[in-house]
Amino acid sequence: MEKLRILLQQIDGRGYKAYKQLQGIYNFNTFQLTIDHVQGDPFAQPSRISIQLSPEQHAIPSAFWCNRTRQTALEDFLGRATHAAIRKCVKGRRGTGRSGEMEIAVNGQQILRRNAVLINTTQLEARLLFALPGSGRSILAEEAAVMFFEELPQVVETGLVWAQRPLADMQQHIEQAEDQDSLRSQLEKLNAVAFVADGSLLPRYSGIDDRPLLKGVPFKPPAELKCEVTLPHRGTISGMAIPEGISLIVGGGFHGKSTLLQALERGIYNHIPGDGRELVTTTATAVKIRAEDHRSINQVDISPFIATLPGNRKTNCFSTDNASGSTSQAANIIEALECHCKCLLIDEDTSATNFMIRDQRMQQLVPDPQEPITPLLHRVRELYEKEGVSSIIVTGGSGDYLAVADRVIMMNNYQTIDVTKKAYTLAGDRPITGAKRVPFTKNQQRHINLTIKPLPRQREAKIQVREQRLLEYGRKRVDLSQVEQLLDSGQTEAIGLLLRWCDQHHPQQELGLITTLQQALQEIEEEGLDILLPWKAGHLAMPRLYELVAAANRLR
Ligand code: ADP
Ligand code: MG
Repeated sequence: MEKLRILLQQIDGRGYKAYKQLQGIYNFNTFQLTIDHVQGDPFAQPSRISIQLSPEQHAIPSAFWCNRTRQTALEDFLGRATHAAIRKCVKGRRGTGRSGEMEIAVNGQQILRRNAVLINTTQLEARLLFALPGSGRSILAEEAAVMFFEELPQVVETGLVWAQRPLADMQQHIEQAEDQDSLRSQLEKLNAVAFVADGSLLPRYSGIDDRPLLKGVPFKPPAELKCEVTLPHRGTISGMAIPEGISLIVGGGFHGKSTLLQALERGIYNHIPGDGRELVTTTATAVKIRAEDHRSINQVDISPFIATLPGNRKTNCFSTDNASGSTSQAANIIEALECHCKCLLIDEDTSATNFMIRDQRMQQLVPDPQEPITPLLHRVRELYEKEGVSSIIVTGGSGDYLAVADRVIMMNNYQTIDVTKKAYTLAGDRPITGAKRVPFTKNQQRHINLTIKPLPRQREAKIQVREQRLLEYGRKRVDLSQVEQLLDSGQTEAIGLLLRWCDQHHPQQELGLITTLQQALQEIEEEGLDILLPWKAGHLAMPRLYELVAAANRLR
């Protein structure tokens, strides 16, 4: 610590590059500081530092990280505590550019596995961005000293040191995550694909703010779908179990249909206490399916939905740089099935009408042989009966789906009513199976070229994230903005790194694309996100297989 103090005094007022001398390890009294990488100027990405604490220094009981779920939840909790401490103790602006900022990459309403905070039996480590202060291009050492010797110790004390402090919040965070995992794992036993607990708060603060709308109407399950589940910490809870099969969510506009579906989309993740969706859970492989005009498609067999296209174009290994609404939605379903998805989540708001339905009059006007599309309406039961893939579909406009549904849930004033019986009566004979065309096939042995070319004048191919869901992969671009269950720029970057990692380690993809990507994920699962980068960074988050495959399929 004294060495750092002296170094800072020596470089005061000098050119910003002199900060490079700080790289190294310093022993503070209550923790160790490592300055891992120093930025080139005050406008660049801030310097990377990490804080290490021994078990005696952090004083967190080892029972709090004794399994994967607990460890992820604890690391998330500590990241948030550090984030809050930074907001409280760090002044921020201390010169030009980003001078004075400190940052930890833990945020949002979901608990993701990350590498911002890592705990094991030997140490607790937190990784921060730390913008070294400068005025123009000269060093402001006094400002830096305040950051290192006043602000940082306060941040560590508040966020990471737990001796003689109440651990109730930490324990709640961990136990709730464990309950959510338990709930998700009990879905199968209930023959359900999703569960929404009584009293859950589904609406969000606004379209761009994922925090709960506190004055929203709490969820109440319809009597017919109500069931009880016992969780390890909370004990017995009750709520709506959405059974396997085809479930519709119907109701008037603005009555909360999409809000329910969006909560289910996010139900693949665990949520932090107070989110309102802590006990809304969906089977882990559920995938939101939407139309995605203009997306690129890489060798996907969409023939179950789209037969030969104009110009005698075959669709069993379909590629395009500019998909239509229906071809994109078909490709999205096939991709999901390739990733062993067990539940499709579909909202008519974001679907292509001609992919969803084709009514009687239109069939008379445009005869079947002229129409390459088999709408989902005619495939959705087959998907469930032959492939075991359930669907939850929001539909307010078309009654055709009533004939193929197992369950119909109506939303009225944000309340759910089971209207299955009435729907059966209206639909008459059910189910309709409709036009039979080629049986379902999934072409899984794909090979997509993941090789990334470096940009001119760069030796290494670069991976960068623009906005949350726009990935630059060497000279290629991957637009993931419509892949709605991708949450975080940390996941997006990890996806880019994983694709590169697969290209480096398994260039031949002997087992096909999906299995190769699946194995890569498995390896990260076991070894940690750190193996993706040669240096220490703290901004990565774990993606799912589906989102990883989605990226490979959208390379262009
Ligand atoms: P729909 O898809 O049925 O048209 P939305 O789900 O988009 O309706 O919801 C319409 C509006 O109602 C949104 O602004 C949403 O935030 C709000 N909303 C949804 N559910 C609730 C609720 N339980 N309590 C209060 N407001 C809600
Ligand atoms: Mg809607």
